This record gives sequence, C-alpha cells and structure tokens, in this order.
Amino acid sequence: MKFKPANKIQDLQYFGEFGGVNPSISDSSTYTFLSAKTMFDTFEGNADGCYLYSRHTSPSNLYLGEALAEMEGTETANVAASGMGAITPVLLQLCGAGDHIVSSRTIYGGTYAFLKNFTPKLNIDTTFVDITKLDVVENAITEKTKVLYCESVSNPLLEVADISGLAALAKKHNLKLVVDNTFSPLSIAPAQLGADVVVHSLTKFINGSSDTVGGVVCGTQEFINDLRNVNDGASMLLGSTMDSLRSASILKNLRTLHIRMKQHSKNAMYLASKFEEDGLKTVYPGLSSHPSHELFASMMNEEYGYGGMLTIDVGSLDKANELMELMQNKNLGYLAVSLGFYKTLFSAPGSSTSSEIPEDEQAEMGLTDGLIRFSIGLDNDIERTYEMMKACMKEVGVLKEESLV
Ligand SMILES: *Cc1c(COP(=O)(O)O)cnc(C)c1O
Repeated sequence: MKFKPANKIQDLQYFGEFGGVNPSISDSSTYTFLSAKTMFDTFEGNADGCYLYSRHTSPSNLYLGEALAEMEGTETANVAASGMGAITPVLLQLCGAGDHIVSSRTIYGGTYAFLKNFTPKLNIDTTFVDITKLDVVENAITEKTKVLYCESVSNPLLEVADISGLAALAKKHNLKLVVDNTFSPLSIAPAQLGADVVVHSLTKFINGSSDTVGGVVCGTQEFINDLRNVNDGASMLLGSTMDSLRSASILKNLRTLHIRMKQHSKNAMYLASKFEEDGLKTVYPGLSSHPSHELFASMMNEEYGYGGMLTIDVGSLDKANELMELMQNKNLGYLAVSLGFYKTLFSAPGSSTSSEIPEDEQAEMGLTDGLIRFSIGLDNDIERTYEMMKACMKEVGVLKEESLV
C-alpha cells in the first residue's frame, strides 16, 4: 500500500493541558526541575520527556516536529527557524574538514551559495553535478565523500531527482542522502524512497501563508539526537531555533496542507497545459513533455498531483519583467520571490533567487534570462485566471494576437 502522509497527520492527537483541542503554546525559554539530579540527567540526554531550555527543544516545537515526521515517515524531526537554519546544520553535522559533498547543481540559491562559498572555508568541498545522470553522480564520488545532496524537484528548473537510484548509490558508497523536499510536500515522500535525511523550508507550501520563515529536518532518532546534542550538535550550537509561537501557528496551517496541495497542483496542471498548447516553452513535471514526467509519476502519491510550480520562458528578461509587472497590475499575483502562497507569485530566477549562481553556470544548466518561475495560487476560477494571463501575454507580445479569420 502506498504511503498516506496526510492520514498520518490527521491521526495525530494532542490536547492542551486544559483539554483545549489545540495544544497549549509553550511560552517559556527555561524549565524548572523538581530535583537537581533530573536536571543533570537531562543535560546528559538521559531524561526523556524533560525540557531543559528552549534552544534545545520545547513542547510546541516537538508537536510540530512530530507532525512533520509523520508526514515524511521518519522516526522524528527537528524544527528550525528557517529552511537554511535546517539545511546548514545537517551538512555541518555530517561533514567535517577534509570531507566532500556531491550536490545537484540546480538547487536553491542559498544552499548553493553555502556549499560554493561558505563550506570551503571549513575545508569542506562540493562537486556540483547534473543530478538526473546517475553515472555522472557516481563518478563524482570520492573516498572523501560523505553526503549526496539534492532537491526532489529542483529550484528553479524543476528537474526531478531519482531518489531510489540515488539512495542505492548512497548505500553502495556509504554516504548519507539528504533531500530537500520543499517543492513537493505530500506528493513525494523521499524517506520512503530511501533518503536518509529530508529537509524542508516550511516557509513555502507547508506553512502556506507567507507570514514566517521556518524549516525542519526529518530523520532517525539517532541523527536528530546528534543535531540536538548539547556538546556537539549543530542545531543546538548554531542556534537557529524556531520560536514556540511560530511552531504553533505553522502546526495549524499544516492541517490544511493536503487540501491546498491538491488545489495548487490542479491549477498548475491546468495552466501548464494551456500555456504549452499556446506554444509557450513551459516546464511542469505533470506535462508528458517534461523529461522526468515518468520518473515523477513513479515516485508520487498521486492524489496530490505534480505540485504548484511551473516555469515559462518568454525569451528575454525585459519581456519577463514587462509581463510580470502587467500581471501584477491586473491582480493575477505578486511579483515576489518565494512560493506556496494563496496568491500566485512570480519572479525571474536568473536575476533574483538564483542570482548567487554565476551567469556562465546559469547558462550551462539551462537557466535562461527570460525564465519566469510561477508558484501557482489557490485561485478558485483558474479558467478566468488563464484568460486574463493570456490577455497580458498578448499585450506584451509574448503571445501573438490570433488572426481574425
Ligand atoms: C526557500 C527555500 C530554502 C530556504 O528556506 P528559508 O526558509 O528561506 O531559509 C531551501 N530550499 C528550497 C528548495 C527553498 O525553496
């Protein structure tokens, strides 16, 4: 039977201490101990269920972490103050000076910048590869490699990683496979396909309200304990802890994720098909023209669809900017980075979210100037949205006026 991530969330039950249907928010940075011995044991990591200090963990953060662990089917999870606050401790926990990472070259700009510019200062080097070619990935592995890193669906080019294939390589070479699943929550469950660690930026679809940043690491109890270790845990020591008020609000939004993902996917599928029919260069994993359409289909939990992200290429940055400004004026969405909001968001990744990637490398990976990335919103009337977008495209000359016969 296929893994049912939304059922796992639905089946969780936490009551507040006064019987509230929502768990109480833990609004304390520190916790009292009835005996000094218990405090000592807690420091040593031997007092289950005791809280010490909220940078370590808090009841509210545990509730959210457990819900996300259920969603990914991992033993447990640790929430963080942002997606980068989840990703960077994972990599620093798994790698030390002299170690090596093999990473997809099409990843989130911040993660790319961290691996390209920051970790070399710690003598951790990364080889960036085309993650869709397993032979290229394997050839990049050396004796020093500790981690294989990718996004299940990549930002912004929507390349799809063969997670089972990568997991087999990781196993063979004794590496940890770390997968960023931010673009495809519920649709793809990387841990079920063999990933060792799954990370998310909660900022995007999972929270879905564009009102906070947040992150999570899902993995084994052993790995999460390592991250939280008071002596050498990267999450504990780097300190990117989520605030309890925020984890409580994200937990509430998580409950509607399954409904939202279905609508994001339905709307994106509709627009992608229409744009492609109109002759626009459209990339969407749900289209059979997508090079990894079959692969996505083989990995997905069908009911959630192919996700809310699509790209079109309108030829030049000027045209892209003109179109985005016009669409914003017509209230079709916002010219903004990020994703997963109820409104459609659009941006030109080459000059924004992926600007950390040098121009020649952008060209090599197919990240063109005229690329517009859309995070499709929850519009109830997507046919109307399409007609209005089409009118904008005609107005700026991206689509030809139909000749009157
Ligand atoms: C946004 C994003 C991140 C970073 O998350 P923050 O919450 O902004 O720190 C990482 N990976 C992907 C795929 C993202 O889209």
